[in-house]
Amino acid sequence: MTTQEYRAGRRPPVSRITRSGEILDLVRRGQAITTGQLADQLGIARSTVNDRVELLLASGLLTPAAESPTGSRGRPASTLAFNPRAGTTLAAQLGISGVRLAVTDLAGVILSSEMIDIDLADGPRRVLRLVTDGFDQALARLGEDRARVHGIGFGLPARVELAGRPGEPELTDEVVRDVLAAWLPVPVFVDHDVNLLAFGELCARDDAPEVLVSVKVGTVIGCGLVVNGQVVQGESGMAGEIGHTRVGDSEVPCGCGNVGCLNAVASGGALARRLREQGIDAPNARAVAALAKSGDVTAGHAVRMAGRDLGEVLAGVVNLLNPAVISLWGYLAEAEEQLIAGIRESIARSAQPGPAGKVRIEPAVMGADAGLYGAAMMVVEHALRPDAVESHLHASLG
Ligand SMILES: [Zn+2]
Repeated sequence: MTTQEYRAGRRPPVSRITRSGEILDLVRRGQAITTGQLADQLGIARSTVNDRVELLLASGLLTPAAESPTGSRGRPASTLAFNPRAGTTLAAQLGISGVRLAVTDLAGVILSSEMIDIDLADGPRRVLRLVTDGFDQALARLGEDRARVHGIGFGLPARVELAGRPGEPELTDEVVRDVLAAWLPVPVFVDHDVNLLAFGELCARDDAPEVLVSVKVGTVIGCGLVVNGQVVQGESGMAGEIGHTRVGDSEVPCGCGNVGCLNAVASGGALARRLREQGIDAPNARAVAALAKSGDVTAGHAVRMAGRDLGEVLAGVVNLLNPAVISLWGYLAEAEEQLIAGIRESIARSAQPGPAGKVRIEPAVMGADAGLYGAAMMVVEHALRPDAVESHLHASLG
């Protein structure tokens, strides 16, 4: 397969495409970047590798990189690089009063992003119309073609936070998927925002933890789990709902209808309410974190106590899953010193010493864009799976 044949639109036989997906995968992950390394790792002839590389170069997914001096017989070996600009993803993260939209490249790098105000009371169709209009405008501003979009990733808050008006269709995973797929026929991934945060955190880390627990400690508390590279969904998509685990003997009512939930006791929203009752000006979770960081004793104590409550629930998670990392994200995580101290105390007291001693509890590596990055990487990891790449190469020449 030559570049000329590819450009002339000649569809290569499937046998000429086989293994090109694996080649792209190895180069993208930096595990092999020369023809020789690829041939060695895959156990196939260099001529076969060259043939597939030619195809991937022609498709734009690979690009020649700088020459490395490590080639055989003293000649420089030409190295290959993944070209993340070979396509785009669309990512969205819905909140209660707004939706953040982004166009990213195939490395999850945000090319453009914006916040659009929404009113959930307008109903799912109107809200999603604002989303698709926003995507269209963003693509137009970037001069990007819809045909280069590899998929859409969409983060939703937990369902209990999204209760619509009585009689109104709910903004469910299915509605989002149907409306977006009708607008643009590409794979659509809809997941809870905490799951996308967890997946984004996994992709952004270099240490590839086998078990990662990603906790969002903001206005509400939620948690995403990644085990062996896969987000754990649970039987009905509710895995990780630690915010609705009852702690201690608290009777504080929670939005879910229960009492004493972690969310009602230890979330940023709950702390802000409690501080306001004591006459402290703390309108929201962000203000609580800022007060605690600035040395306010009452706020600092409240955050540490919240950390202990959260740690009690996480101690069960530590015993159950033996995670390598618990990463913390959200406004309250900004008061990390007090929050992490509280979590550590409870885990040390209530979890088994072995896994409790091993788990690293630390702020998330990604900041405010983590959810969008996770949504984009959901698309990327699907679109660049070896079999998906080979189908794409085959179809794009049909
Ligand atoms: Zn609850």
